[in-house]
Amino acid sequence: MKYTNLSNLPKAIERAVENDPYESNADISTTRLIAPPRIRVLQKRNWDLITEDVSDKIFSLLGQSVHHVIERAKTRKEISEKRLFYKDDKITNGWTLSGAFDLLNRDGHLIDFKVTSAWSALSALEKGKPEWENQLNVLDFLASKNPKELVNYKTEIKVKRLSVMAILRDWSKVRVMTSDKYPKKQVAMIPIRKWTYEEQESYVKERIKIHQNAEKVSELPMCTATERWRREDKFAVMKSGRKSAMRLLDTREEAMQYLASQNMTIGKGCDIVERKGEDVRCQHYCNVNEFCSHYMKTSF
Ligand code: SF4
Repeated sequence: MKYTNLSNLPKAIERAVENDPYESNADISTTRLIAPPRIRVLQKRNWDLITEDVSDKIFSLLGQSVHHVIERAKTRKEISEKRLFYKDDKITNGWTLSGAFDLLNRDGHLIDFKVTSAWSALSALEKGKPEWENQLNVLDFLASKNPKELVNYKTEIKVKRLSVMAILRDWSKVRVMTSDKYPKKQVAMIPIRKWTYEEQESYVKERIKIHQNAEKVSELPMCTATERWRREDKFAVMKSGRKSAMRLLDTREEAMQYLASQNMTIGKGCDIVERKGEDVRCQHYCNVNEFCSHYMKTSF
């Protein structure tokens, strides 16, 4: 992996990005386990050819900075920044799985700190966020396999509940006044569903199998629409003199029906504009897209 510094940011930022201490020597980390195998294998096969710009890693640096704050604040009653490992033949099929949790309180509350957008936190509060649920449950699985690592004052701490503390990087006080739903504070505690041990074991086993199989095939498993952060086509009902859409609908037919219900006619002060969907991750956030046949097929 090579880094460019196209914005000519200070060398200190360049070094901070390059000296990322969060990689482990395990066969697979929790972050990679829950991520699409296609991305992981393409990264592995093309590691020396991947290029990223340090300016695109700033949010990642901000996320990591929270870990230093927690380290500074912890007391002897808590365990923080603990990396755990697990390997066996039955669940991980010979691979070592690793994962680090941010904070475990003495009462068994495991908390992960995330720097994220306000809308992402809102969506997680309303509908849940599978990615966070998967990640925290894999960490809980690792905790259950490492009881000796979680001893505090001679007492083993057992994980009882899971949460994400979301720090909202783009939170705006003004928006609080314009939306009832918008988070009221720049930080939100989001409870995460704790699975049964059996659910965790079966998830880990299945994901390891998918990743191991992906390493052996030439035709890599496709990232799902959810993993590609697919945004479907939309049809916007636009009114003359107004910048934002009156309605965003999934099909042209629905948009036509909406116009009819409002006694409006295309060409008479209103129109229907198609907004093309896209795979947001593939187009903007996947650092192996140039090696991916799906991206090559869909981006031109
Ligand atoms: S470009 Fe899209 S489909 Fe290809 S590996 Fe990246 S996320 Fe997956």
